[in-house]
Amino acid sequence: MSKYKATGKEREIHHCVICDEMFLEYPCSARPLLPGDCCPRCDDLIVTTIRMITAVDQAQGALAAEMMRRAIDMRNGKRELMERMREQRGEHKSDAADAGVSS
Ligand SMILES: [Zn+2]
Repeated sequence: MSKYKATGKEREIHHCVICDEMFLEYPCSARPLLPGDCCPRCDDLIVTTIRMITAVDQAQGALAAEMMRRAIDMRNGKRELMERMREQRGEHKSDAADAGVSS
């Protein structure tokens, strides 16, 4: 049985702000890394690790969190660029189709 109290939230699809995946498990807080929710895997691997480092040395924890945030920003930036490229290709394709119709 689940160790969590049933709230109905476990039936929702959640988005992890760290790995960018959708998940069905109960969401965990991504703080202090990021605002929002993360999946239990990122909570175990990343958020808990950052909290442990912070408990030993606050400055090192802040540095580890900053490093992770930069990696996530890079990943998100890359995804946005890919989406923009796909949009441009789509526009380009429709331009070509329009040119085909007019000629
Ligand atoms: Zn995740």
